[in-house]
Amino acid sequence: MKDKGGHSSSAADSHHHCKHLDAEVEIPKNTMVASHACGVCGTEAALVCGGCSSVFYCGKEHQKQHWGSHRKECLPYKVVASPEAGKYLIASRRLREGQVLFQEFPLMMGPVSVSPLVCLGCHCAIEGTDFPRCPECHWPLCSSACASSSVHRIECSVLAADTRRIGPPTSQGPPTLRYDSILLLRCLSLRSNRPSDWETMLDMVSHAGHYQKAQDTVHTVTVRYVKEVLKLDLDSDTIHQVRGAIAANSIEIRNVDGTKIRAVYPRVRLLNHACTPNVHLTSTKEGAMEVRTAVSIDKGEPLYICYTGTTLPLWDRQRILNDMYFFRCECNRCTDPTELGTHYSSPKCPECSSRYLKPQSWVNQTTWECDNCRTERSDTEIQEHVREWEERFSMDDVFSQKSVKQIKKMIDCIESEFHARHHVWLTAAQAALRELKAIDTEHSLHLRAELWAKLLSLLSVLEPGLSRRRGIVLLETGIALLDEAKSEHESGNAFVPQLTERLQVAATHLKEAAHILGLEPPGSQSAPLASKAQEKVVTTENFLTRLQEGGVRAE
Ligand SMILES: [Zn+2]
Ligand SMILES: [Zn+2]
Ligand SMILES: [Zn+2]
Ligand SMILES: [Zn+2]
Ligand SMILES: [Zn+2]
Ligand SMILES: [Zn+2]
Repeated sequence: MKDKGGHSSSAADSHHHCKHLDAEVEIPKNTMVASHACGVCGTEAALVCGGCSSVFYCGKEHQKQHWGSHRKECLPYKVVASPEAGKYLIASRRLREGQVLFQEFPLMMGPVSVSPLVCLGCHCAIEGTDFPRCPECHWPLCSSACASSSVHRIECSVLAADTRRIGPPTSQGPPTLRYDSILLLRCLSLRSNRPSDWETMLDMVSHAGHYQKAQDTVHTVTVRYVKEVLKLDLDSDTIHQVRGAIAANSIEIRNVDGTKIRAVYPRVRLLNHACTPNVHLTSTKEGAMEVRTAVSIDKGEPLYICYTGTTLPLWDRQRILNDMYFFRCECNRCTDPTELGTHYSSPKCPECSSRYLKPQSWVNQTTWECDNCRTERSDTEIQEHVREWEERFSMDDVFSQKSVKQIKKMIDCIESEFHARHHVWLTAAQAALRELKAIDTEHSLHLRAELWAKLLSLLSVLEPGLSRRRGIVLLETGIALLDEAKSEHESGNAFVPQLTERLQVAATHLKEAAHILGLEPPGSQSAPLASKAQEKVVTTENFLTRLQEGGVRAE
């Protein structure tokens, strides 16, 4: 997406203006003030709105006068640029957590680069082998009606030039790179159909140069197909550039039927990367992307999403960012050898067992060292060791047919080999929780509550604040504590003070879950979870009341 991420901005301002009107900034003498006219009277401007830097004023009086109407438009973020990082967004004032920054519809949508059969009309997955094809271009569709959909009309006549039918996928099979050309054709169509969106497209960071130099297969095949088979009337450089811009800026989203597709957003693309994001993306049911703060953000601080997913180990995040986005992450998490105190990618010292090995740098091919006994291991050794364990526990059936006791033993084993905030632990805990869900014994309930609580504590570091995923984990943790308390109460195995304490923790988690999930846009997939959390809050509080009144049964 961006050439460089994870920089904290030097523009960060420690003064937090409480009132917006105090935030005017004088235009430095050496800038071309002549190009800026007062937004009210049109005379030469001397001030710029400190909130958004996009409106200019001759003086305080006109700024004050304009504020009544400008306050609605004054954006909470602004676009800045630096030579290394290109264009990116920063907070234009102090932002509170959970604030919606903007919603926007994609410039264009299309199939993912390498995709199984998907309809070019509605982006739904195509099932079975007996599917219709577009009569003009011969590409597979879910129904013949989709041939005339406005989305497919964009590229149909261009695709029809492939009279030898080299491009259209022939049958069901593994995901194919033939779909890579579709979003490209749609974006190229902007040139004649939507000139201002075409300008945006050309303004995007493109990694075309990297792909050409590396002779990337998908890139090369697609550009040649568009140029030589479809004979699109555009110079190769432009096709390369736009293909590279799509690769760098598109975001994977889900179609209504759950199929993976991708979309290019004009402003979301400007969000920088950090391995611990401070903003959260979520799709509305109308298909817009909503950008919301996950934590409070200081004025001048860049807005970050995580391009790689927050739960990959250090080297996997660095590899993806290097191979796909062509930069090295220098975020707070990557540059801290403890990964914010989690030691998320580190194994225990194999010699003294008293510390976790620390990477000596976050750059690949580093060495890992023990603070205590100075034992060293190479990056390759560490990665192989972790991968070996990860592979064992990422298999779907690793815990199936196992008793709760056996599952507990396997988790304990990981905790002694690594620890409960490690990538391997997370992989195993998620698999174990899927299995434990079907076992309703007291032991299972106890282990469930324990694993969810540990998972919550880890996720609160990796993905802090009001992210949907953290909301879901809070909900699950609360439910697990509630179920455990109910079961212990029924069996008479617990003292009331202990139960009360546990239920109070459950209530706190469930309330926070209800708050976070309640921020999801109405009609979105996780919106029903907010009411579930709310129901569980009521159940927990009723249970607490009955306990305090000395009632005997938990509903
Ligand atoms: Zn004026
Ligand atoms: Zn403003
Ligand atoms: Zn369709
Ligand atoms: Zn067609
Ligand atoms: Zn990072
Ligand atoms: Zn050691």
